[in-house]
Amino acid sequence: MNGIWPMIYPPSFRTIRAAAAVLALCAFLFVPQSIVRREFPAYRVVLDPGHGGISLPDRSRHGDRYDALSGTYLQPFKEGAAWGAIEEHAVVYEIARKAAGIIAMCGEGGDFNRFSRLLERYSAVPPRRVFVDVSLSRGDSRDRGEISGRMDPNGEFRLFDYPGPDGKMRPGRISRINAMRPHLVVCLHVARSGSPYFRGMNPVIAPPFGFMYKGLKVLRGEKSDRRFFLSSPYAEWFDESNERTGYEWFLNDSMLYFSGFPLDARRKVDMAGFKGYRHNMVDWPYRDSPGWAVVARSHPDYTPYAASPGTISLTGRYWDRERSEFERFRRDGGEEGYGGDNHYASAEIIRYILMALRLNNVVHPDQRLSKPYVSVWHMPLFLNAVTAFMELGYFNRPQFRYILTARQDEIAEGIAVGVYSLLAGMEPRDGGGARTPRGKRVDLGKYSGSNEKSYFDAAAFPGR
Ligand SMILES: [Zn+2]
Repeated sequence: MNGIWPMIYPPSFRTIRAAAAVLALCAFLFVPQSIVRREFPAYRVVLDPGHGGISLPDRSRHGDRYDALSGTYLQPFKEGAAWGAIEEHAVVYEIARKAAGIIAMCGEGGDFNRFSRLLERYSAVPPRRVFVDVSLSRGDSRDRGEISGRMDPNGEFRLFDYPGPDGKMRPGRISRINAMRPHLVVCLHVARSGSPYFRGMNPVIAPPFGFMYKGLKVLRGEKSDRRFFLSSPYAEWFDESNERTGYEWFLNDSMLYFSGFPLDARRKVDMAGFKGYRHNMVDWPYRDSPGWAVVARSHPDYTPYAASPGTISLTGRYWDRERSEFERFRRDGGEEGYGGDNHYASAEIIRYILMALRLNNVVHPDQRLSKPYVSVWHMPLFLNAVTAFMELGYFNRPQFRYILTARQDEIAEGIAVGVYSLLAGMEPRDGGGARTPRGKRVDLGKYSGSNEKSYFDAAAFPGR
């Protein structure tokens, strides 16, 4: 009840307290719900350090992306990048743990005064009190001996739901995060290497339905001009290899997004390469109704499970969600001009990380906000929250190895301040210009429909 009712009575007068409690209860029962509000807004934030677990060769037992149709894992488990003894899963876990410790100062009972003092270096105005409830998406994975000794070493680290030893499905990371109904999720990753063109810290984003749909129209023969792609902010599409252009990879990923099937280099559907229906690999209200797999098994035309671009029918709760205005808010337009709130949240947190490093005199040309990686990534698509997904750097660059191991405190502080700023808003001190954080809060109010429940609440089953 803290934070809902101010403590207005001295603790020694027990009878007055009892009377006040009765009055409060009456007020609670007879005042309309809309008037009973918390004094300060409360937000749920999940920090999601990537990977954990161990890459093991037997994909039938240790993989991820469990497919109900074939009863197999469709991809090997990815334990993350490494450079010698420096491992991505350990670096991002340590940074997330430190950032959570700082954000917890904004929690109920947290030392907000201490957080305010920390903010003085960043903010030109006194901070606004908000309550932030912060969690980590996974446990520690640094004790490799302990992890490899588990019966299922990748259990809690998988992204998608998976069968336990009793055959019953267990929630993967995406389902568990959605069940927490977060407003904001911060996914932290590091790459081993990358093109110099992308070097820096990168947002990782998924385009909106409308843009992907243009790809489907090309595959259906209803559109042939590729200018819509080349003139779009998504033109630098994530290349899986140099054997195809970015445009061909975009078409491949459009087909994957709509049907679960990839394309070969001649744009023919690769039936053997089926990647599954990801929205049905997650335990959330946007799954297809029970029995979907019976229909899906033969991929019949004019159903959502068809294998041909011309006959896919985009019906069902998931496709309604994809077309909703809430998904446009998350993934389209917004403060960065494209990529919606997801892109803004990613870029803004990166700007605060860079500011934290600068404030501590850690400066290097590699430390910059760089281009976003654009594709149909799992997390920004299937996490039902504003999703700030980012690559924090590249292990093959000495400066990144230095800051990711020796400057974790500064990076964590930047993440914590960025999270606060996205929720509460701030006036950043930094000299102005493009590199300075914008300080603008994400308007979460627009995610509430006409009813009381917000879009974020709708990601979890009621009562679970
Ligand atoms: Zn990663």
